Amino acid sequence: MIALARKYRPKRFADLIVQTHVAAALRGAVASGRVAHGYLFAGPRGVGKTTAARVLAMALNCERREPSGEPCGVCESCVRIWTGAANLDVVELDAASNRGVDDARDLRERAMYAASAEGRYKVYIVDEAHMLTREAWNALLKILEEPPSRVVFVFATTEPQKIAQSAAPILSRLQRFDFRRIGPHAITDRLKQVLAAEDLAADDDAVQLIAKSADGGMRDGLSILDQVLSFGEGPVTAQRVREVLGLIPEDVYGELLRLVAERDAKAVFPVVDRLVDAGADLGEFVAGAGETLRAVLLVGLGGKPEGTTEGMVALIERYASLLPAPDVVRLLAVLSEMETQLRTSGNMRLTVELLLLRWAMMGRTVELETVIRALNTEPGKKPGTGEMLGKGDAPAVLRDAATGSPAPLPPSPAVPPAVPPPEKGPLTVDRLRDLWPRIIEDARAKSPMLGALLQVTEIAGLDGSTVSVRLLDTNPVHAEGIERQRDALALLVGRYVTAPVRIKLQAAASGERAPPQRSSRMTEEGARADRLKALRAKDPSLNAAIDALDLELLE
Ligand SMILES: [Zn+2]
Repeated sequence: MIALARKYRPKRFADLIVQTHVAAALRGAVASGRVAHGYLFAGPRGVGKTTAARVLAMALNCERREPSGEPCGVCESCVRIWTGAANLDVVELDAASNRGVDDARDLRERAMYAASAEGRYKVYIVDEAHMLTREAWNALLKILEEPPSRVVFVFATTEPQKIAQSAAPILSRLQRFDFRRIGPHAITDRLKQVLAAEDLAADDDAVQLIAKSADGGMRDGLSILDQVLSFGEGPVTAQRVREVLGLIPEDVYGELLRLVAERDAKAVFPVVDRLVDAGADLGEFVAGAGETLRAVLLVGLGGKPEGTTEGMVALIERYASLLPAPDVVRLLAVLSEMETQLRTSGNMRLTVELLLLRWAMMGRTVELETVIRALNTEPGKKPGTGEMLGKGDAPAVLRDAATGSPAPLPPSPAVPPAVPPPEKGPLTVDRLRDLWPRIIEDARAKSPMLGALLQVTEIAGLDGSTVSVRLLDTNPVHAEGIERQRDALALLVGRYVTAPVRIKLQAAASGERAPPQRSSRMTEEGARADRLKALRAKDPSLNAAIDALDLELLE
């Protein structure tokens, strides 16, 4: 069986996927007889630079060239060049192994002989051209100053800036083309075309994995497919690709996300054990972990990860809600911080364990309420007696302003509370209205449900010791909810006044002012703004917290 990578190597400019801008320019040059003597093909490896040079040689020498400049691909000349038999027309040199001045002199002498036969073009392809010495470039410059006719030089390089440093004068004599990276989408599409043409079956996930492993190289993609096909029979599955390529199973990344999200530090060791036992490349694992977190971040910000298998997408979507974007940014920052260590470590296993432990033990954005509540906790009393916030609540966020690292946990209960207990005062409508956001915040700490319901209320009036609370929306469920907790609310209000109070609930004043009020307060932002306002009303504690912990208020 002929290798797919070889069989499907482009025979025409039109076959050069992604590099359409290069193909069009070269085709046009051939058609109009304006082919340059020297070209610089710059771009990442595996994107078709030498292939394009070979197609150019085919086009220049084709016996039945199309008017558009495309080689026919089937004439004797085309076939000879395509199969590599015509080494007189196409000379490929690898600068990485031929970099001395002698080789350049040799090249110069050979170039003088020009083409192999009457009327034929000779194309020299110098691969890894950035490896050529300055002396070699000087010799080549002499050739390009007075180029023999029908000789074309193509310099291919992954690092054009190095040529600019060592051989700037030569660049002005070369026509430069920048080859684009071939994205996983383009590779996937091409692999599917080839599979269809070969009448072979493959899972989408398997093709995705191959495209990803090809890392922007089309030829690599086809070589990997060859390898996988030679490994077994029947349809190509993701499992088979993983086995052939020795890829790290997806569930390892799932376990990683779990242990980070749940801060399950002790799970770090079994994960690394499993990788080491399976002989996995830990560097590849770290790269995969970084990619996975990046995908989580992308999903968290409303994007869609590209070139990922469906299985991974499902995993990532599951954990995106548990790992908010600011947290993931910090996780990735830790990774980049440890990059040198990971690259140079003599004990990779320990370094990877350290990375995972830092991830698993890293503090998260601290809910402001947690800090306030802990500060409010009196000595001897257990902290955190308030109910946990509901999942849907968007917590206000504090972080350490100096280092950007997460806020330390609230001070221990042994520290005297920075907040004085609520000051009792006279019962007046104005005072109640001022205190209302704070009371709502107290209610929220007691019951998130009550807190949420009170967001859509206001103080309507006062009749003796009876406080009238008006509901700003007409939802009967809201009214019932507050009604049920009237006594609890009375106690909360009572903390601020000298005499006991009763609560009376008023229905929404029909029509007039309810809707605008509701629209501003019912939105998540409005509610959050109110809550923050309420928290700021507790200034002594919040400011003390900010000062003591050197925190930055993000919202
Ligand atoms: Zn031809």
